Amino acid sequence: MTDDASPLLAVEGLTTAFDTDEGELVAVDGIDFTVEAGETVCLVGESGSGKTVATESITRLIGSPPGRIEGSVRYRGRDLLEMPEPELRTIRGYDIAHVFQNPQEAMNHCYTVGWQIVEALQIHEDVPDAEARGRAIDLLDRVGIANPSARFEEYPHQLSGGQKQRAMIAMALVGDPDLLIADEPTTALDVTVQAQILSLLDELQSEFDMGVLFVTHDLGVVAQIADRIVVMYAGKVMERGDVLDIFERPAHPYTRRLLECIPEVGGSRKGGIPGTLPDPHDPPAGCRFAPRCSHAVEACRTGGQPAEHAVNPGQHASCVHYRSDMDRSVLRDGSREEQPAAGGVSPEDE
Ligand code: SF4
Repeated sequence: MTDDASPLLAVEGLTTAFDTDEGELVAVDGIDFTVEAGETVCLVGESGSGKTVATESITRLIGSPPGRIEGSVRYRGRDLLEMPEPELRTIRGYDIAHVFQNPQEAMNHCYTVGWQIVEALQIHEDVPDAEARGRAIDLLDRVGIANPSARFEEYPHQLSGGQKQRAMIAMALVGDPDLLIADEPTTALDVTVQAQILSLLDELQSEFDMGVLFVTHDLGVVAQIADRIVVMYAGKVMERGDVLDIFERPAHPYTRRLLECIPEVGGSRKGGIPGTLPDPHDPPAGCRFAPRCSHAVEACRTGGQPAEHAVNPGQHASCVHYRSDMDRSVLRDGSREEQPAAGGVSPEDE
């Protein structure tokens, strides 16, 4: 049953683990977030922080085995994790659509672009071929592909990288989706095409009133498109809040380090992030960021990931220094000025 008072998407306690030869690997560990209709929520963090696994868990794209997904993922009040597969198939790729990082890999090179859009449509709707063809050409036109009738007949290798990504977006729009999950959709594109695709997504979001869950490590992109940000690290949420709060008053030491990785005019960076992500088979006992954090104290090293504490209205950080019995002012002292240790990395280096 649909609950109109619910958020469009409400993720609670989402945990995704894999059985591997080295033992259990928990890629996503009890995360919560929501996406409302018409808003863009960006999941950000370094490669390996669990962002992609989290988004693929939403519509159960993770194979089981080896994956195990627990928690709750409510779409319009209905739990997608409890839903029988045939019912989920009516939602996946239609009401909830994915756009993947690399259209080169995501498209089937044995079939024409048009055939792939028609197939995506006819999986969900019983429409005759001629009508499906017309709608596919309309979609190609809507995503800004010139001469869409001709492109309909072409194979993916005949399209440029930007055209392929536009075609992938057209495929995602076959059901006028309520929720678009876009995983690094501009990473493989040059900056000019990237700007065009972001602008296209923005237009389509307004037109369809879609919620957008956007995965990226690129905070420059986040600054352009996000309403709210969820910062992930090593499978956990470190901080969440409105885009302006996160960019102007980042509360969590990891978020601050990420922001220092944004290149300034001229290409230089204020800093980087010392060290590397922890081994997901054997994460730290306390805060996951403790081995790399210059503000770590004894309380950070035991007891699991700290609870999220309110920093400002709507902004929360998972850091012991925001506990009522701790002194949060230590986080201000020189934290933005510290230089990374040798070997520090930026998100896109990983
Ligand atoms: S809890 Fe401790 S280790 Fe984690 S971010 Fe805060 S100060 Fe750093």
